[in-house]
Amino acid sequence: MEHDMSDYSEVLVTEEQIATRLDEMAAQIRADYEGKDLLLVGVLKGAVMVMADLARRMPTNVQMDWMAVSSYGSGTVSSGVVRILKDLDTDLTDRHVLIVEDIIDSGVTLSWLLGNLRTRGAASVEIATLLRKPDALRVEVPVRYVGFDMPTKFLVGYGLDFAEDYRTLPFIAALKPEVYGDR
Ligand code: 5GP
Ligand code: MG
Repeated sequence: MEHDMSDYSEVLVTEEQIATRLDEMAAQIRADYEGKDLLLVGVLKGAVMVMADLARRMPTNVQMDWMAVSSYGSGTVSSGVVRILKDLDTDLTDRHVLIVEDIIDSGVTLSWLLGNLRTRGAASVEIATLLRKPDALRVEVPVRYVGFDMPTKFLVGYGLDFAEDYRTLPFIAALKPEVYGDR
């Protein structure tokens, strides 16, 4: 599959680098949850790729479920008020839950999600994210597994979108400011 390189400036994480890192993260997760029944919770839509690739590295008793949330906010500032668009199908009582995310930026959404899931009687709730931006280091969200620490750029690909485009790229790229500046 060819991808038009003219729209986005540089590939920051290649397909191969993603696969290698997911191997390492999956090995760690399998070891940490050995003998436990793990539920992976993906946050739609961005986490679809990382969930699919991480889940394929898990044993057959590991289950998947999905949530869709939307953050209310004025402009670019997230208010921290989150609305559930699609809730889990799974009862979390006594379950070991691992939230699977594509990227943590401010951490506002994830902080809310963590609090919400923790009220549901789970045995444990942890977070795995493929990407983390520098701002995320300022918030009090304990992230157990991190794939890559990224620069403060607008990233697309591997599930990350710009106006719903670019999710299909198999790698992570930084979008040129002139691409998103006028949209
Ligand atoms: P937070 O609540 O951590 O600020 O927001 C996280 C969400 O913002 C991510 O799940 C993602 O949807 C979006 N986001 C944050 N940074 C980027 C980015 O660089 N590119 C894209 N496409 N989405 C981002
Ligand atoms: Mg997301």
